[in-house]
Amino acid sequence: MDHKIKITGLLLAILSSSTTQVVADEKPFSIAIHGGAGTISKANLTPEQEQAYRDKLSQAVNAGYSILEKGGDSLVAIQAAINVLEDSPLFNAGVGAVYTFDGQHEMDASIMDGKTMNAGAVAGVKHIKNPINLADAVMNKSPHVMLSGAGAEEFALTQGFQLVPVTHFDTDKRYNQLIDAKEKIKTAETAKDYQAANHLMGRDYLDLDYKFGTVGAVALDQNGNLAAGTSTGGMTAKRFGRIGDSPVIGAGTYAENGVCAVSATGHGEYFIRYHVAGDICAKVKYQKKSIIQAADEVINQRLITAGGTGGVIALDQRGNIATPFNTEGMYRATRKNGEPVQVMIWRDK
Ligand code: ASP
Repeated sequence: MDHKIKITGLLLAILSSSTTQVVADEKPFSIAIHGGAGTISKANLTPEQEQAYRDKLSQAVNAGYSILEKGGDSLVAIQAAINVLEDSPLFNAGVGAVYTFDGQHEMDASIMDGKTMNAGAVAGVKHIKNPINLADAVMNKSPHVMLSGAGAEEFALTQGFQLVPVTHFDTDKRYNQLIDAKEKIKTAETAKDYQAANHLMGRDYLDLDYKFGTVGAVALDQNGNLAAGTSTGGMTAKRFGRIGDSPVIGAGTYAENGVCAVSATGHGEYFIRYHVAGDICAKVKYQKKSIIQAADEVINQRLITAGGTGGVIALDQRGNIATPFNTEGMYRATRKNGEPVQVMIWRDK
């Protein structure tokens, strides 16, 4: 009898420990962030600058990870990560946003909740410290998906956001980049080389060393909810009122539970026309492709053929991460449950 009780106890212990294991494995969680893609040449980055980028990326991914680890929501985690990057002058979002042709800052952001398929976005905002938080408010507190310019800021006031002066976003580095970009455009226009001028504004945009830094995050939480968000100052010397892909759901941002979550960075006009984030998730959903293959096909085949430069961070329902880019580098960091942070800039490290 005693013997029987002992065996039953042993069996129960084995069963419960394997159940715990299954439950733990059934609740994968992970997060990936990016800080923009482009021609990030090693020669232009001092070891100190490189370390500063790596430290900030690591801080941002950990801010999101610590929320996921405690069982928190993926939407909360991505905002925590993005806020760290928006508050850093190193990236083209929030402080450090690039200048428009007219010397202003016009910021775009969007967020998507894979659980509800709800989404929120803001475009062309000028006084919002953390545009991703306003996108979240549009999603949760308004009947709309996207608000722009003065209307978005008026809505922000009704939601208790404080408007900050435009000078909040000024940095010498970005201002010098604007002067440099305008000079190059002017030289080309004076020479009546409109093709070259258009190239500077368009196709070769990211070939210029300074035009990257958009930020984004994707996360899967322990409840299986996927979320994605993107925040940017857009492109240096962009014309008044230009809106890129970052606030466009399906282009720069997309999340759908059971399928995938994507945040993009790159030459926005291509990402809009090629519906990049949505296309990646459609491949996963309908063609049953892995997230790695789906993201790679869009970034390294479709976009390359089209002439579009940039990259994405993407996550699937199991927490698998893909971070393809077709530029020289993409600032990025990832962390999966129980694993250490990985921070990368170039292809190999
Ligand atoms: N995608 C952004 C835009 O076109 C720019 C970037 O990611 O660098 O506004």
